[in-house]
Amino acid sequence: MGEHGVSKRVKASNRKAERSRSAESVPSAKAVEPVAAAKAAKVSKPVAVSKPVAVAKPAKVSKPAKPAKVAAPVKVAGSAKPESRLAMVRRARKINRELAEVFPYAHPELDFRNPFELLVATVLSAQTTDLRVNQTTPALFAKYPTPEDLAAAVPEEVEELIRPTGFFRAKTRSIMGLAAALRDEFGGEVPGRLEDLVKLPGVGRKTAFVVLGNAFGVPGITVDTHFMRLVRRWKWTEQEDPVKIEAEIAEIFPKSEWTMLSHRVIFHGRRICHARKPACGACPITHLCPSYGEGETDPEKARKLLKYEMGGFPGQRLDPPPGYPGRPAPPLGASG
Ligand code: SF4
Repeated sequence: MGEHGVSKRVKASNRKAERSRSAESVPSAKAVEPVAAAKAAKVSKPVAVSKPVAVAKPAKVSKPAKPAKVAAPVKVAGSAKPESRLAMVRRARKINRELAEVFPYAHPELDFRNPFELLVATVLSAQTTDLRVNQTTPALFAKYPTPEDLAAAVPEEVEELIRPTGFFRAKTRSIMGLAAALRDEFGGEVPGRLEDLVKLPGVGRKTAFVVLGNAFGVPGITVDTHFMRLVRRWKWTEQEDPVKIEAEIAEIFPKSEWTMLSHRVIFHGRRICHARKPACGACPITHLCPSYGEGETDPEKARKLLKYEMGGFPGQRLDPPPGYPGRPAPPLGASG
C-alpha cells in the first residue's frame, strides 16, 4: 500500500475513532458502571472516557476464579459495556485483517537464504536489532556457509565477526555449539520439529517458532517484545509470560494465521505502535484500539514518529523480499 493509501486509511480510522469518542460523551445511565457514570457527569473530556482499561474489572466480580485463558473484558472506544470474549475475538480478527491491508508485505526482518542462516541469525538477534544482525551475517556466512564450517571455526575469529551484535562471546558459544549439534546429531541439517530445535544451544521457543514458521512453513506465533506489548494494549490478553501469551493468542486465531499475524503485529509495533511513544495520530486501527491516546494523537506530530518505510526510511533488511515498498538497509559502516 502506498503512502497515500495508508494516509487515507488513517484519516478514515481517525474519523471512526472520533465518532466513537463523541458517542461516548452521552453515556447511557444503564449501560455505564456507576463510577464511570459519575465521572462522565463531572467531566466531559472524551479522551478520558475513551480509556477503557479502568472499566475492565467488573467481570472479575461476577466470575472470580476463571482461568487465565480468557482475557478480562474491556470497554473499547464506541462501546459503553465491558467487552465480551466474543466481541474481543471479533475485534482481534478485524485488527489482523486490517493490518494485512496495511502491511501486505510483512515478512521476517532477518536476511537469510536457508534454515541454517535463519537459525544463526535469530540467535544473534537477541539483545540487538535485526538491522545490526543483517549487517553482520554476510561476512559470517561467507566464511562459514555450513554447520560443519562453523563448528570447526576458531572461536576468536567468529567472535570478531559477530562483535557488532553484542554479547559476542556468549553468542559465539551458542552458534558454534548449535552448529556442532547440527553436524553431530542431525546430519548437518536444521531439524523441522520444535522438540529438536529447542534442544540446540541458545535456541528457545521464540527462535524455534521463527525458524519453523519462516523456513519450514509450520505455523507459529512469535512472542517478542513488540508482540507482547501490542497484544496487551489491544486487550487480547492480560498475561505477561510469553508462553501463556502464546497459548491465549493461539485460541483467538486459526493456526493458518499464526505466522503472518506475528509478522504484522511486529511490523506495526516497530513502525507505528512504539513502546514509549506510539504514533496514535497516524495509526490506521485507532477505531479498534482500546489504548488509543496512550501515545501522540496529533496527526502531524505522530507522522514524524513513524519508522522504516512508513517514515520514508530504509528498512532492516539489506536484501528485502520482492514487494517491499521501502529501501534496503545500508551495509555495516554505511550511513542509512
Ligand atoms: S498506535 Fe495508538 S491507536 Fe494505534 S494500536 Fe498503538 S496504542 Fe492503539
